[in-house]
Amino acid sequence: MDLTVPQEPTSLRAMRNWFWALVVLAIWALAIWGRGGPAPLPADAPAQVFSAARAEIALAQLLGPERPHPAGSAENEAVHARLLAALAALGVKSTTLNTMSCYGEQRWGAIICGQIGDVIAEVRPGQGKAIVLMAHLDSVPAGPGAADDGAGVAALLESIRALKADPRVGGHPVLALFTDGEEDGLLGAAAFVRDARWREQVGVAVNVEARGNRGPSLLFQTSPGNGALVDLYARNVKYPATSSLYGEIYKFLPNDTDMTPFLKAGLTGYNFAFVGNVAQYHTPLDRIEGLDPASLQSQGDAVLGLTRGLKSADFAHLKSGDAIDLDIMGWWLPRLDAGWALPLSLLIFAVIALAAWVRREGVPLSVGAALMPPLLLLSAGVAGFILQAIVAWISGHADPAYAHPLLLRLALAFAVWGIALTSSRRATAYICWLWLAGLGVAAAWLLPGLSPYFLFPAAVAAVTLPFGLRALPALAALMVWIGLTANAEPLMGLAITPIFTLPAAMGLIALLPLLKARRGQAVLCGALALMAAIAAGFVPAYDAAHPQRLNLLYVEDGRQAYWLASTGDRLPPALRAAAHFSASPENRIERGFAAPAGTPQFTAPSAQVARNGADITLTFNGSSAADSMALVVPQKAGLQSITLGGITTPAPAGQVVLFCSTPACARAEVTLHLAEPTSLLLMERRFGLPVKGAALAKARGELAMPSQSGDMIILASRIAVPDK
Ligand SMILES: [Zn+2]
Repeated sequence: MDLTVPQEPTSLRAMRNWFWALVVLAIWALAIWGRGGPAPLPADAPAQVFSAARAEIALAQLLGPERPHPAGSAENEAVHARLLAALAALGVKSTTLNTMSCYGEQRWGAIICGQIGDVIAEVRPGQGKAIVLMAHLDSVPAGPGAADDGAGVAALLESIRALKADPRVGGHPVLALFTDGEEDGLLGAAAFVRDARWREQVGVAVNVEARGNRGPSLLFQTSPGNGALVDLYARNVKYPATSSLYGEIYKFLPNDTDMTPFLKAGLTGYNFAFVGNVAQYHTPLDRIEGLDPASLQSQGDAVLGLTRGLKSADFAHLKSGDAIDLDIMGWWLPRLDAGWALPLSLLIFAVIALAAWVRREGVPLSVGAALMPPLLLLSAGVAGFILQAIVAWISGHADPAYAHPLLLRLALAFAVWGIALTSSRRATAYICWLWLAGLGVAAAWLLPGLSPYFLFPAAVAAVTLPFGLRALPALAALMVWIGLTANAEPLMGLAITPIFTLPAAMGLIALLPLLKARRGQAVLCGALALMAAIAAGFVPAYDAAHPQRLNLLYVEDGRQAYWLASTGDRLPPALRAAAHFSASPENRIERGFAAPAGTPQFTAPSAQVARNGADITLTFNGSSAADSMALVVPQKAGLQSITLGGITTPAPAGQVVLFCSTPACARAEVTLHLAEPTSLLLMERRFGLPVKGAALAKARGELAMPSQSGDMIILASRIAVPDK
């Protein structure tokens, strides 16, 4: 057969590159704005459906004045009371689990305890084990937690209302668990799981969380062996937002949610979160006005859809093999048993290789052509980091595109496109697809959750390439990889934008055979990338909606008092001028810029110490103003475990910090099981700053804000442990 194609005129060749650039841009835009997702439903929507507008009303009633409400605070009590009233109004019986709880993960280097109150609502009776819907009621001290996790609580309340309005009865019972002390260290979830009466009722848990205030509610974690769970999700939630890659990535992140103690106890569960606009997460800006109603609707549709699907499910059949899956723009969720990943990837690689051999493409093999795809990946990665470094160098900030990422994104896009144009010089369709299919085999072997990103488009290629169709598989690859780039880059948002040149380049590998190498265009792209990066360097790193994270601490440590400004970036000029801050961050009680703060004014905490063999019992004596206590046990003490409130928690290796994080802790009795006596550091922590800190807080300015634990007074003292 004659495969020669008539030469296109030069102008058409140039047009072809522009055409594909527009296609890539359109896919990127579709992935961000056109993503299938529920439109928020109004307050007069039918009673049996979830309405974001009704959920938002419930959220406003729950949060009242929208103040921070960490576990143990007066505002936390007020939020509890409002939740109990809301449940009573829905005609749901609720119980409060008031208890001291402790929890610690080995990798935290800390054990956290606190007095908490979980609220457990019996939504519907039924037979067998229960569906447990979960969200946390507390917020961080720095912010009012409208999205994290007020939105989760409101999604549960609106789902409960919709379930009560549903005349269909029968099936599994439904419980709603509103946990407390999640932000301190998963204390409420740990208390629930520790209590056998409750734990044994759990059939499937559905947890809803947030790490931002926009975007679809992603199913980002499940219990292991999730094939049947993913299947049930796909059948009951209209707009799927999930991928087996999320679970793989989440394993490497330091984050935890209430699902952690549930999974540790071997329970079955789903974990959801929306994660867009992380800049406002755990800050005073996490308010209802910033919460996207579409995220609330997405969260609610997931909770209500799954609950309805699970009600009649046979829980014995929910354990299966793992799935590999990947939603296509929220419209469709292709999925496959992970056991198929490797054999299918090998088969697809073999089919493409065979077709290449039959068509004599890439024969004789040119090494230069074969190296184009990996060269594209490598160059895109390197270019990303060089451009980010240029922007950071000009701007002088650690994360220069934090508030305004557009110019850096443009710079990266121009660079990757320019590199793709250059790499297209000798690329042939079969060589490019052999690379993608080969990487798919590696992924299936090493990181199965990633494999659908290769496997699904390569399957399209294996079927279409033999018929000379190159555009169709390229479109499939672009949908998958540009979709990943567009959705994952904003949610990471933490100075790692350049890493996302890699998935973009991965998608472009499939496009190389359709592009025409044009040196002029490539050089132009390089120049535009550089210009955009230079311009990005002059854009302010922060604005009022995306402020710098900066906590002010007032520390009294023995005879000295000092300020500590804790931030990952340099200090705002006005703050630096307001006190004699150190030139660079120092390792004090925390890491931060330190400045002298005059003479100490508070009474340091103390503790009564009693020894019984290797056990040291401390009775804390903190002030009535204490919000929490912390005890640092150095590595040389050889701490084995800590007993507090009747709960013994094994100690992680190395230095261990015990955070007893509620006001009740000021008088807590703690027993340390130690190998060696040593001196300990005891801290009393109070939220907010002393009166003399007002000027510093003002100098912090509008473009910086506290986050997480927020501003704090820390009073420290040494506790000597007597020898045997
Ligand atoms: Zn949360």
